[in-house]
Amino acid sequence: MDSHGQESANANIMRQLQATFARLPNDIPVYHFIARGDDTIFVQTNRQIMKAFRDLTDKIQFREYFLDHELARKWNVSRSPTLLIAPERYGIRWLGAPLGEEGRTMLEALILVGLGESQLKDEAKAVLKSIDSPRNVKVFVSATCPYCPQEAVNGVRAAIEAPEMVSLEIVDIQCNTDLAEQYSALSVPQCYANDVLVGQGARTEEIFMASLKKLEPVTVFIPENTAELVETDVLIVGGGPAGLAAGIYAERSGLKAAVVERDALGGQVATTPIVENYPGFTQVGGRTLVDIMVSHALEYVPIFQGENVLDITPGDPVVVSTTRRTFHTRAVLLATGATHRLLGVKGEKEFSGKGVSYCSTCDGPLFKGRQVVMVGGGNSAVTEALHLHHMGVGVTLIHRRDKLRAQEVLTKNLFDNHIPVLWDTEIQEIRGDKQVNALLLRNNKTGETSTFETNGVFIAIGYEPTVGLASKIGVELTPDGFIRHDGNHRTNIPGIYSAGDVEGGYKQIVTATGQGSAAALAIFEDLINPYWMKNKS
Ligand code: NAP
Repeated sequence: MDSHGQESANANIMRQLQATFARLPNDIPVYHFIARGDDTIFVQTNRQIMKAFRDLTDKIQFREYFLDHELARKWNVSRSPTLLIAPERYGIRWLGAPLGEEGRTMLEALILVGLGESQLKDEAKAVLKSIDSPRNVKVFVSATCPYCPQEAVNGVRAAIEAPEMVSLEIVDIQCNTDLAEQYSALSVPQCYANDVLVGQGARTEEIFMASLKKLEPVTVFIPENTAELVETDVLIVGGGPAGLAAGIYAERSGLKAAVVERDALGGQVATTPIVENYPGFTQVGGRTLVDIMVSHALEYVPIFQGENVLDITPGDPVVVSTTRRTFHTRAVLLATGATHRLLGVKGEKEFSGKGVSYCSTCDGPLFKGRQVVMVGGGNSAVTEALHLHHMGVGVTLIHRRDKLRAQEVLTKNLFDNHIPVLWDTEIQEIRGDKQVNALLLRNNKTGETSTFETNGVFIAIGYEPTVGLASKIGVELTPDGFIRHDGNHRTNIPGIYSAGDVEGGYKQIVTATGQGSAAALAIFEDLINPYWMKNKS
C-alpha cells in the first residue's frame, strides 16, 4: 500500500472507531494515578493513548491524580502509573501502560465498558454466575506478547459480567518488574486468581472462567449444551498460514468454509520475531505478517477463534463438535500445525514460566540485561538467539552437536554477532529456587559435566505435529508421526484432508500457504466429483 493508501485506510479505521464509540450507551471514566515526579514512558504512553481515544469520542473522561489524592486512598491505588476504568462500576485496573499488543486490549476494554456488557457466551456466563465468593484476578502481560490480549480481555469480560465477584488487575511486567518477580511471572500471559496460578497462555473464555471458579488450572471445558449449528462445505481446523490460505482458496472456489482456531491465529508465525523469506517481504515481523494474513482471510472466510474442536465424526455430513457449537460439513481440512517439542529433562516442567520459555518474542523482554541460554541448532534457535541478543539479552546457544542445522545466512549472522555457542552440549537438569538459576550440562564428547549459571532457558528444538484429533478418528500417520496423505492432501478417510506442518516436509510459511491452497482446490474438485464415489464404481 502506498502512503496515500495507508492514510486513507487509517482515516477509514478512525471513522469506524468514532462510529463504534458514538453508539455506546455509557460514559467511560478513566482515572490515571501517578506518583509525583513520575515521567516515565509508561506515564507518557497513558496520556498519549488516552488523548488519542478522547480525540475519537467524548464518552471517555480522562482524569489524572497523584497517589496522595483521597481518590487513590478510596480505591486503594498505590502504584504509579495505574489506570482505573469506570471504578464506580467495575474493578478494572491497569498497572503500567497499554503498550504494543496491549493497545488492542485497552481498546476492547473501553468498548466493553462503554457497552456495559461482557459479550461472553452463555456457557462462560453460567460458570461465572456459579462463583460464590470474590476473585481478585491478575493477568500478567507484556507489550510484545501476541497471546496476551486474549487472556486480558477474558479478565475484562469477567469483571464486567460479575462486578460484585471479580476484580481485575492487568499487570504490565515491564513496568512492574517487582510484581513479576514476586509472582515469578517469567512467561506471559499468566493468570492468578486470589494469588493462585490458574492459567498460563491464552485460553478460551470458558476455560478462563472455569479456572476462576475452581481456583486451579483447568485445561478442558465441556459445555453443558451444544450451541448453534453451522453448516459448511469445508471446515478448516487450524488458523495458521495453511488454514488461512485454505480459507481464502475454498471461498474463492465457491465453497462455504469456516476456520476454527483454539489459540492465537497465525500459529508459530505469530511468535516468530522476524520473517525474511516470505516472498514479497524482505523483512517483516511474524505478528505483522499474521495480521495481514488474517485481515486478508477475513475478507472471505469466517474465523471462529478461541474455540476448541473436541470431536470429529466422519460421514455425510461430517459432524464436528467444538467447545461452542456443532458444525455439519462435507469436508474437514486438518491444518493443526505443530507444537513445540519439550526437552524432557528434570526441572523443565517445574520451571516452565519461571525461567523456562518456548517463546522469545513473548518472554524475551523480561530478560533484558540478564543472561539466558537458547537450546537448539535449527533455524528457530538461531533466529531467536539473534532476536534476544538484539533486544539486549545476554544469550549463549547450547547445541548438542558440533554443527548447526540452521541456514547458512542465519549461522553467519550468529557468528558475526559473536553469540557464544556451547557445542556438543546437552542439558541434563534445569535447576533453581523460585526461578531458574543454573543448568547441569554434559559435554557428550568428553562426558564431562558442569554447572552453568543462567537466569533463563529458551528452548527451540523443533516441533511435534499436532495429531491428537487425527489419531482419534483413525487418520493414518507416517512413522515420524505426521499425517499421511496421497500427495493431494487426502488422508485415508474420505472427506478428511490435511495441510501444513502437520504433514511434515519443509515446514516453511510459504510451503504451508501453498499446501493450504492446494488442499482447498483438491477439496473443491472432490466435492464436485467425489473420488470415493469414483473408486466405488
Ligand atoms: P529443527 O529444524 O527440527 O531443529 C531442531 C534443533 O533442535 C536441531 O538442531 C536439533 O539438533 C535440536 N534438537 C532436537 N531435539 C533435541 C533435544 N532433545 N535436545 C537438544 N537438542 C535437540 O526445528 P526448528 O529450528 O524449530 O525449525 C522447525 C522448522 O521450521 C524447520 O523446517 C525450519 O526450517 C523451519 N523454520 C524456518 C525458519 C526460516 O526459514 N528462517 C525459521 C524458523 C523455523 P540436531 O541438529 O542435532 O538434530
